[in-house]
Amino acid sequence: MMKKSLKQKSIAVGVIFIVALFIGMALMSAVTANKGAANGVDFTPDELQELYRTYNITENDIKFAEGELLYYLEGTILDSDMRVIASETGEPPEGLKEGDYDIVISTAEMFAIIDDARERFMDKYGVDPANPKVDIVDGVPLPKEEVQRLVKSGKIDLADAEPLVGILGGPSEGPHAISGKIYAHIFIAKDDRHNPTEYVTADTSAALCRFEDQFGVDMIWYWYYNYWDASDISPADSCSKALEDLAEDEGGIVNAENDIVIGWLHDMDHNGMAYPDGMWDLNEDGVIDFAPYCVCSDTAAGVDWPHDNIVQHETSHLFNAPDHGYTGPYCVMTYMYAGASWFGDVWCSDCEDTVDDNIWGW
Ligand SMILES: [Zn+2]
Ligand SMILES: [Zn+2]
Repeated sequence: MMKKSLKQKSIAVGVIFIVALFIGMALMSAVTANKGAANGVDFTPDELQELYRTYNITENDIKFAEGELLYYLEGTILDSDMRVIASETGEPPEGLKEGDYDIVISTAEMFAIIDDARERFMDKYGVDPANPKVDIVDGVPLPKEEVQRLVKSGKIDLADAEPLVGILGGPSEGPHAISGKIYAHIFIAKDDRHNPTEYVTADTSAALCRFEDQFGVDMIWYWYYNYWDASDISPADSCSKALEDLAEDEGGIVNAENDIVIGWLHDMDHNGMAYPDGMWDLNEDGVIDFAPYCVCSDTAAGVDWPHDNIVQHETSHLFNAPDHGYTGPYCVMTYMYAGASWFGDVWCSDCEDTVDDNIWGW
């Protein structure tokens, strides 16, 4: 069933690189708990307590950020031994046989299960997995508002982390619409280390809707729970290893050029990562394969991006949109905007053209 090389062509290895987001890396070393460093973003224990008071941060908020609370979906079928698929119609994706899944539910049912679990979690801990209040920056729990403020005010220096490593372009051969449709297959990592502890479902849907609104494509999505086991990736926080693992484990779902695959993870080294233009040398044999994979992480070392922006950014890479770096046009491909909660789901006109061409230009 796996059809790895829909579009093969020999090209020199090394021309295409993984597009990575290094924003977390940049911030990791920038914030410490010690007073007195030159960057001006350090906190004494007293100052931290004051911040926690200001933003009503509880012990549970900090425990949640540190992964010390139960997984909020624990006890539901979405965190069980059953392989669950959720689809808009309640029907499995075409081509999947019985035996490839245990149960298929509708996305409405999925949201009902999640909302219920979320409510119970909030009752129990006073923490909303959809709106966690704390980011861990270099081991220090900080209120999200404070982290955003430090980023916005430039107290955290992002200048050294320009990660643009990809050379995109050339004839685009990545995923594209067929009969106006793109199928998005979303895999939630099932292992305890990697299942996203934050609520990502609604944001993912919202991001995919942006492609529908902007480009007029019909995005049909399927959610897969208790399928993808990412426990074997090493190092455990490596997005690039996760990308490989996703392609290896779940690549069988890709059987047409309008399939894309999104993996959701927890606490990784980047906010997300994608194979540019949905093409990659998967087998490391010098042959470029159809590889419409991206991964997203609910939290990343350093500063998290809003989840909807992560999905929009990574999915745009699959349609050949480039990174602009930390500063650049008002665009989801510019890191400072993708990372900002006040940013509103925009592509610059160049990226808009690129994504549009790649979705429709066939
Ligand atoms: Zn990027
Ligand atoms: Zn752009």
